[in-house]
Amino acid sequence: MVEGAIDRVLFSEKDIAEKVEELGKQITKDYKGKDLLLVCVLKGGILFMSDLSKKIDLPLKMDFIAVSSYGDSTVSSGVVKILKDLDTSIEGKDVLIVEDIIDSGLTLKYLLGNLKTRKPASLKVCTLLDKPKRRTVDLTPEYCGFSIENHFVVGYGLDFMQMFRNVPYVFIPKQEYVDKMQS
Ligand code: 5GP
Repeated sequence: MVEGAIDRVLFSEKDIAEKVEELGKQITKDYKGKDLLLVCVLKGGILFMSDLSKKIDLPLKMDFIAVSSYGDSTVSSGVVKILKDLDTSIEGKDVLIVEDIIDSGLTLKYLLGNLKTRKPASLKVCTLLDKPKRRTVDLTPEYCGFSIENHFVVGYGLDFMQMFRNVPYVFIPKQEYVDKMQS
C-alpha cells in the first residue's frame, strides 16, 4: 500500500530511533533541574514528541498547540492561525517546542514570537527535520535531528493530504503519486 508511493526512504526507523535517543540524552543533560514543558506542534510533531519524551529522563510536562499556515501547498505565507492553543500558562517554564520540520521558518517565527509574550523562563526549539536552504527568516533550532535538502518528505508524523503520518520512517514520495493525488 505505502510501498507504491515511495520514491526513496530518507530515514529508516533505526536512523530515527538512534537520533531520538541522542537528542533525548542531550536534552536530559541540558534541562536537569529545570521546569521543562514540551510543546508539541500538531499534527506533524506527534510521533516525534511521543518517542522523544520517552528518551528524556526528567520530570516534565507536555502541552499541545495546533497552527495552520496559509498560502499554497509549497510556499508558506507566514500568516499563521492558532487552531488549538496551549491548555496551560507557560510563564516561568522552560519551554521546548517539538516540531516535525522547519522549512521557510515562518510558522516557527510566528510561534516563537507569540509564546515569548507569555514570559517563559526559556524558549527553545527541537525539530526532527530541517531544510536550512529554504529559510526565509533568521532562525536556527537549538536541537535538530537531520538537516535535509529541499525534498518534500512524508512519514513519521509528516503528511501528504493528511496521509502517511503513521508510517514509521521518513520518505520522499514518488512525483507520479503526488501528481495523481493532486489531479
Ligand atoms: P514553514 O513555515 O517553516 O515554511 O513550514 C513549516 C510547516 O510546513 C511544517 O510544520 C510542515 O507542516 C510543512 N512542511 C514543510 N516542509 C514539509 C515537507 O517536506 N513535508 C511535509 N509533509 N510538510 C512540510
